[in-house]
Amino acid sequence: MPFDNNYTLNTVDVCPVGALTSKDFRFQMRAWFLKETRSLCTSCATGCNVIIGSREEKIYRYTPRDNDAVNASWMCDAGRLNYKWIGRADRLREVLVRGRKAAWPDALGEISDRLKQAPAGSVAIVASARQTNEELWLLSKLKARLGALSDSVGREGPADKLLVSADKNPNTNGARLTGICFTEIGTSLPQIAHGIASGKVKTLIVFGEDVTKHGLGADLLGKLEMLIVSDILPGATTQLAHYLLPGAAHAEKRGSFTNGKGRVQKFMKAVEAPGDARAEWEFLHDLVHQVTGRNGFVTIEGLFNQMAQEVPAFNGLTWAALGDTGVTVPI
Ligand code: SF4
Repeated sequence: MPFDNNYTLNTVDVCPVGALTSKDFRFQMRAWFLKETRSLCTSCATGCNVIIGSREEKIYRYTPRDNDAVNASWMCDAGRLNYKWIGRADRLREVLVRGRKAAWPDALGEISDRLKQAPAGSVAIVASARQTNEELWLLSKLKARLGALSDSVGREGPADKLLVSADKNPNTNGARLTGICFTEIGTSLPQIAHGIASGKVKTLIVFGEDVTKHGLGADLLGKLEMLIVSDILPGATTQLAHYLLPGAAHAEKRGSFTNGKGRVQKFMKAVEAPGDARAEWEFLHDLVHQVTGRNGFVTIEGLFNQMAQEVPAFNGLTWAALGDTGVTVPI
């Protein structure tokens, strides 16, 4: 029988003599040269625990990491092989203000000056359920200060009865629990589109989503006075941005996600982000400080602990207490 399913590469992990190898990894790098970093798969809401194997800022493989509460010692092939985009040559690596290269402090200063003057209700936020809990929570602070409408984009696909979830976002629950979107993800997007069409919404902040594919086409985006976009890879929305802020992939930063079953799990940094790209929580912290006057912690530990005090679902959690395998919260 052909050996053809979505879990074949687990045989490489369990082969006792190393006779079975992965076509993707073999002869690419000697396994003992790899730096091993505790991380998570972000390809669906299951949040399988993984080890990222990297060397000299390049990722060579994901392998499953034991967590009996999530994936035991397994992961699917699709998730395991979905890492090459992180090293793509066309990654966004420069801050651009109306197409011209700019420095982070100048761009953030201009954005915050303009946001501070924005009338209540004139700003909308499209966040991403691929962002971390901490980043979504910081965006919720901007949302509260600006009286902004906010939402995120749903991403569905086939599930199986083993590990794979139909929800292809790693942090839909984080987006809900931090108040960025309500029970049904994506339901406020038509309202945001209507707000732009009617002229009420004049500023749109987009993180990590190509909104032109989700009801906010180029014609609508063209009506905005200010389009602020942060992303990792170029797309139709990044091309239209007035302010383009290059972000970091999860493998390039620390943070936490809340998986489909409410397990809050943290991940560590394996490689550096390219060029001027920065972890979103770092520059969102600066932006929230400048717009709301609220200064907080500038470490991920401090930020998480502060979020845990304020977001009811996370009450009582600490970064340290998440340990390597996470903690389940009620969702
Ligand atoms: S089941 Fe989901 S989280 Fe786990 S490896 Fe596959 S895609 Fe990644």
